[in-house]
Amino acid sequence: AVAAYQVVKRFHGQEILKGVDLQIRQGEVACLIGPSGSGKSTFLRCINHLEKIDGGALYVGGELMGYRRVGDKLYELKEAEIARKRAGIGMVFQRFNLFGHMTALENVIEAPMRVRKVPRGEALDQGKILLERVGLSHRLNAYPSQLSGGQQQRVAIARALAMKPTLMLFDEPTSALDPELVGEVLDVMRGLAEEGMTMVVVTHEMAFAREVGDCVAFMDNGAIIEKSPPAEMFQRPQHPRTRAFLAKHL
Ligand code: ATP
Ligand code: MG
Repeated sequence: AVAAYQVVKRFHGQEILKGVDLQIRQGEVACLIGPSGSGKSTFLRCINHLEKIDGGALYVGGELMGYRRVGDKLYELKEAEIARKRAGIGMVFQRFNLFGHMTALENVIEAPMRVRKVPRGEALDQGKILLERVGLSHRLNAYPSQLSGGQQQRVAIARALAMKPTLMLFDEPTSALDPELVGEVLDVMRGLAEEGMTMVVVTHEMAFAREVGDCVAFMDNGAIIEKSPPAEMFQRPQHPRTRAFLAKHL
């Protein structure tokens, strides 16, 4: 469902992604781990073209995302086409960036109504189902400030799901949460995985990666230097840098 080939990204001439390769099949959950500054968030943002890549190519659902240069030939998608593809990719960030002046339900129906032109009544029905699915049917009309961090993050997940994504990207969705609220968010993510959602999850929750991940990829210094099923990754890491990282985080 996601294929990255030698993805390069530079900021101010400095190479931040140095040829990232990663292939994820449909229905797979890939967990991305690695030290701070290694490029994990940047890579996620490249997948949905929030960042323009400087080299290589990215495919989502078999279709080119953004553009690709072959020799001096450039294949480039139009902005509207990129926006359409991006709408099919859900993203959940570390900071639950809900609209503060909207209730949970309003947050969830906003994008389907605005982007997918879903009629309000239908959007409301779907929104309620989604909020029920993340365990918040009793908080439909609460504003973000009235919700705990874990509840807000679950609204954020419901909001992403409202666009009927074929791929979900999570960037450290639990690292801003109080420890006692982490589990409820991971439970929702686990449920999504069980339903067959394709997911890329940047996380420090090694137990989650071990249990839910189909593969774990270790990113260091702008490249994925090791990728394997969780049992292998955690029991027999091959690369010395993976071993050093895991020794600190397991
Ligand atoms: P963390 O675990 O701390 O979230 P990360 O692996 O997600 O780290 P990134 O946020 O992708 O790392 O950052 C990788 C590098 O790219 C860092 O050195 C960062 O300073 C740099 N970087 C990221 N975004 C930008 C930007 N918009 N402009 C300039 N440099 C950037
Ligand atoms: Mg990050």
